[in-house]
Amino acid sequence: SQPTNLAELTKAEIVVWLNSFDTVLTDCDGVLWHEGVAIDGVPEAIALLKTLGKEVYFVTNNGIKTSREIWQTATTIGYDIDESRILAPIKAIADYLQARNFYKKVYVVGSEAISNGLAAVGIESFGSGPEVLQGKLNDYLAQQVATQETDDVGAVVVGFDEHFTFAKMLKASNYICSNSECLFMTTNLDTVHRYPAFRIPGTGALLAGLETCVERKALQFGKPNPEICQQLIKSGKVVPARTLMIGDVCKVDVLFGHNCGFQTLLVGTGHNSVHELNEVLQQPSENPGFIPDFFVPSLADIKKLI
Ligand code: PLP
Ligand code: CA
Repeated sequence: SQPTNLAELTKAEIVVWLNSFDTVLTDCDGVLWHEGVAIDGVPEAIALLKTLGKEVYFVTNNGIKTSREIWQTATTIGYDIDESRILAPIKAIADYLQARNFYKKVYVVGSEAISNGLAAVGIESFGSGPEVLQGKLNDYLAQQVATQETDDVGAVVVGFDEHFTFAKMLKASNYICSNSECLFMTTNLDTVHRYPAFRIPGTGALLAGLETCVERKALQFGKPNPEICQQLIKSGKVVPARTLMIGDVCKVDVLFGHNCGFQTLLVGTGHNSVHELNEVLQQPSENPGFIPDFFVPSLADIKKLI
């Protein structure tokens, strides 16, 4: 079925809708801001939701910033939110490892933020930054095999990595396959970041090659996996039937909302939101979890609807 356009509801229907949830989880990039610049009117819309008594959380797949860095961005551009209410994959990975008393080292194919996030819970890691094959492949490989045992790597974490190379894939695959207990984790599966005039390969695209090589799938900590908010649901702070997920990507945010048992609202402010929604609606049988319950052109619009 088609999503309900909030702009077509009466004031009375909007009140009923507003009373149907207590908690809001909102995606960040594409809903709240674009590349660190607030979307017009949205900080005011979030403030309004809070005034109406809604508990607000931000949930992002950004794997190149720690929760603290995301919180700093949000605060600087006008969002009033607690750092503890930023749900982000690096934090989810650190929490997961900490809960399992992980004591080995982590090999990172990704940004320094992953190492910083792990260090915050006392976990040592290495690997971020440029890495290219030095000398001949055989020599490089021999060195890897020689140090592999003493490196004591218990997990490989993959995130968005603008320095992604063959050398890193070689190292990661050998750590993963030299020990069947080595954890294989990723911040998110976003395959591409779309912009009006270009695209940037996402973590999911980089990861696919490594997964093919090791013949294993990584545990993924971003949306659409509910893991990122599992603690909040278990603790009772988030009641799925009374929660609204707001996002700009059907196949990530809307599916995440459905996977968690939340209501879903798609906004049209993502670079590809309206185009993707039309595609999804043309193939409704592909995955009913992609279709949002509600649609609004921008979250800023809720001010004039209320
Ligand atoms: N991953 C990276 C590296 C990003 O820079 C972004 C957006 O800035 C995302 C993922 C997607 O973030 P979000 O889930 O907030 O849209
Ligand atoms: Ca987004």
